[in-house]
Amino acid sequence: MHEVSLMEQTIEIALAQASKQGASQIHRMKMRIGDMSGVVPEALAFAFDVVTQGTIAAGAKLEIESVPVTCFCPNCQQEFHPPDIFYECPECGEPRTKMLAGGEIELTSLEVS
Ligand SMILES: [Zn+2]
Repeated sequence: MHEVSLMEQTIEIALAQASKQGASQIHRMKMRIGDMSGVVPEALAFAFDVVTQGTIAAGAKLEIESVPVTCFCPNCQQEFHPPDIFYECPECGEPRTKMLAGGEIELTSLEVS
C-alpha cells in the first residue's frame, strides 16, 4: 500500500470539506484503518506530516483508529476474529467466510475552524 498517495487523497477530501465549511484551519482528523487494509499506521502518520505541509491541515493532529478483522461464518452463523490472514472459521474450518470489517480506510471525522 502506498501510504503517501493514500494520504494525499485523504487530505484532498479533508481540504474540500473544510473549504465547503468555510474553515481556515484543520485541527484534527480521525481515520479508521482496518487491520487487513494493508496500510501501516506509522507510515500513514509520517505521510500525513509530509503532505499537510503548506496546507491548512499543517500541524493538525491525526488520530488513527485501527479496526480488527471481523469475519462471519455461514455455517456457525457467528462472527469471529481470525488470528491471522486466514479467514477460516475457528469452530468448523469453513473457508468461505465473509469479511465484515478490517479492510476499511476511512476519514471519519474532521475538526476545523
Ligand atoms: Zn464455522
